[in-house]
Amino acid sequence: MFEGVFNESLLGKARERSRVDLRVVDIRDFAQGKHRQADDRPFGGGPGMVLKPEPLWEALKSVGAGVPLRGPKARKKANRPTVIYLSPQGRPLTQGLADDLAKKNRLVLVAGHYEGIDERLFDWIDMEVSVGDVVLTGGEIPAMAVVDAVVRKVPGVVKEAGSLEWDSYAAGWEGRLDCPHFTRPAKWFGREVPSVLLGGDHRKIQAWREGASLSATKRKGPI
Ligand code: SAM
Repeated sequence: MFEGVFNESLLGKARERSRVDLRVVDIRDFAQGKHRQADDRPFGGGPGMVLKPEPLWEALKSVGAGVPLRGPKARKKANRPTVIYLSPQGRPLTQGLADDLAKKNRLVLVAGHYEGIDERLFDWIDMEVSVGDVVLTGGEIPAMAVVDAVVRKVPGVVKEAGSLEWDSYAAGWEGRLDCPHFTRPAKWFGREVPSVLLGGDHRKIQAWREGASLSATKRKGPI
């Protein structure tokens, strides 16, 4: 699931050309027994399966995240990556959070499945992150969304860094949305591009974009 997304477009280029290093770890590689079972039935009964603690813990150890944050073996955070569990119960993935995560050296994203992970594993998890108030079948797609949002903000990944400052939710914009965009042809199905954008007067274009971005925000989103 991951390699297709990670090798395409901006993520693929970031992997090739920048210090961004994306690695995918299969939790099942750390499961024991003939069937390499990474999940089991929940104690107390009920539907669904739960990801077992040992394989996921071994997987965390393999990426340098084996030191717990809580519990009797807890140690200081030095050199520890930030471990994120993708979960509908987490804090929302916002631009502000993506900007903060892009400043970190190393992130480990844990994608759950079935009913989720054994609760005792939370001693190894720094934060839960959600991609919305909705339940998906697994944490893989949310993990890809976090990777995409974070990698985009790593310096050097987007060549025209100025374009990031204009995007919706950019820092310093107080939640403002981007303005509408147009490209050739100037007239299409009888609809014309705003003439100011064709005039070449950069001050007027800037003023138009600011006004258009404010009205988009008013129409579509809260400030
Ligand atoms: N039983 C869990 C609950 O109700 O909170 C939901 C489990 S869900 C079916 C399986 C996995 O998908 C979760 O462990 C989580 O990793 C991932 N997941 C589902 N919805 C998500 C969301 N909105 N944001 C982030 N991850 C999500």
